[in-house]
Amino acid sequence: MMGGCDYGLRKIMEANWRGRATRPLPQIFECPKCSARMPFSRAELAQIDGSGFESYRLSCRACAVPLAGVVDPYDETLLLSELKE
Ligand SMILES: [Zn+2]
Repeated sequence: MMGGCDYGLRKIMEANWRGRATRPLPQIFECPKCSARMPFSRAELAQIDGSGFESYRLSCRACAVPLAGVVDPYDETLLLSELKE
C-alpha cells in the first residue's frame, strides 16, 4: 500500500482520467520566453477551438507571460506561443 502524500499528482491523474481516459498525461511544458519548465494539466483547461484543436490559455509561473497552447493532434505535442497583449 502506497502513502497518500502525492495528492497533487493524483488529482491531475484523476482529472485526466475523467476527461481523456485514452490519453494519459500530464506533460511538462517549457516557457517559450524564459525556458522555465512547468507541469501542465491538460484536462482542467481544455477548450476545443473552431478547427477542432485542443487549445489552452496558460501563464508562465516564472515570468508570468501569457501563453496560448494547442495540442498537435498528430503527435500530442503541446505547441506554445506568447500572447501579445
Ligand atoms: Zn516564462
